[in-house]
Amino acid sequence: MQEKKTKGRLFIVSAPSGTGKTTLCKKIISALPNLNFSVSYTTRPPRPGEVDNRDYTFVTRTRFSSMLDKGEFIEWAEIHDELYGTSKKRLAELMRSGIDVILDIDTQGTMKLKKKNKEGIYIFILPPSMEVLKKRLEKRMTNAKEDIEKRLKTAVLEIKRYSNYDYVIINDTLNNALKELEAIIISHRCSTKMINSFWIKESFLNKRR
Ligand code: ADP
Ligand code: 5GP
Repeated sequence: MQEKKTKGRLFIVSAPSGTGKTTLCKKIISALPNLNFSVSYTTRPPRPGEVDNRDYTFVTRTRFSSMLDKGEFIEWAEIHDELYGTSKKRLAELMRSGIDVILDIDTQGTMKLKKKNKEGIYIFILPPSMEVLKKRLEKRMTNAKEDIEKRLKTAVLEIKRYSNYDYVIINDTLNNALKELEAIIISHRCSTKMINSFWIKESFLNKRR
């Protein structure tokens, strides 16, 4: 029996640091079935509460560089002096198993994927304003003051790239933003392109009545 759907889809989600992307992505993964993260590799140290191989795979610069030399990343970027990358192998395994995958990556990584013509649904999340973004970064309390300034400067560069994405969600109230993200994912799951034409033939067209 053929599967109804073709292989998993890729949802690329970017947002300036502090917008609430991690919060939203974690919520959407528990809200919708058949959806998971691809866990990235990073050289940055874990934040309190972060777990190795769940939030990130935390590696040394030497290990990251060696993976980079071997071509193990489908995309990677240097962000705030740390390296981040998506493993080709992890992504392929998830997608082969038919799971929809969320890639939480920055705008540099997104540009690299687009250059490779990587099919996917590109979603950009905005904070309601720069003032709110600053407050959220302060509230999270994981970055020093000068680090927050650096992130706000990077935010402007990232926001300039919004038009490279298919959708923009404004993360004002969490529930509304979550509903919008859910709507985007669900509508793409119903897309004609997602239906396996062999399943249609086998189930409806080749059947004797
Ligand atoms: P990012 O992953 O984009 O860097 P986080 O998910 O870590 O951001 O969120 C940054 C901070 O903002 C966290 O303290 C989080 O609880 C808070 N936050 C996220 N979304 C909202 C929202 N809609 N309203 C208020 N606070 C939010
Ligand atoms: P943080 O250190 O706050 O978890 O993440 C910083 C930035 O790195 C975020 O914009 C996040 O989307 C991005 N990021 C996380 N993993 C990857 C990755 O594998 N590739 C790229 N290009 N960016 C990543």
